[in-house]
Amino acid sequence: MPVNKERYQEIVKELNSTNTKLVAVSKTKSVEDIKELYDLGQRDFGENYVQELTEKAEHLPKDIRWHFIGHLQSNKVKFIAPFVNLIHVVDSLKLLKEINKQAVKNNRVIDCLLQIHIAKEETKFGLDEKELNEIMNQFENLKMNNAGLTGMMGMASFTENREVVRNEFRYLKALFDKHELRTLSMGMSSDYKIAIEEGSNMVRIGSLIFGERAN
Ligand SMILES: *Cc1c(COP(=O)(O)O)cnc(C)c1O
Repeated sequence: MPVNKERYQEIVKELNSTNTKLVAVSKTKSVEDIKELYDLGQRDFGENYVQELTEKAEHLPKDIRWHFIGHLQSNKVKFIAPFVNLIHVVDSLKLLKEINKQAVKNNRVIDCLLQIHIAKEETKFGLDEKELNEIMNQFENLKMNNAGLTGMMGMASFTENREVVRNEFRYLKALFDKHELRTLSMGMSSDYKIAIEEGSNMVRIGSLIFGERAN
């Protein structure tokens, strides 16, 4: 499926008018597809798998800002630490410590978002409010100078019921507002409009722009 350039331009316009950042989710999509969007000016891309990301990054321009949005195992952090721009999926202190350690090794700061569990589904990863507060406290005590905690990320339930989705985003926005953070990553192809209405400032959109994924 080809990149939907018209749709992309429309979305960019829409997001600019609300000051929302677009992460173009390119998992399973080719280097050529990514390059097409890059040539239209897109610089923020999101990937879900470590090996896929490192392979693609090697063949693409160095000014791309790569976002890691898939589940991340601590032992894989070292592969993306040299270049990743923002890790959206921090769901444990162990992972955060490893990110800080690898950032030190690479002499850089790696910004992170805490992934919050907001959906009803058991399968979705993320922290509850208590775990969130524990990590925030520990983060201050442990002085992890090379990991930045800059925001939160959440995924709403996979449902047609827009009110359920809206309430989950609203809950996350309320949590986000309790802390002095910059980035609220919520909203995907199916629900980004609701997410923006509920206060998101970063959306992660894949299939609307790149076409459906073959899986
Ligand atoms: C795949 C993915 C997206 C993009 O999903 P689309 O429905 O294709 O927009 C966004 N966020 C996460 C965490 C994803 O895994």
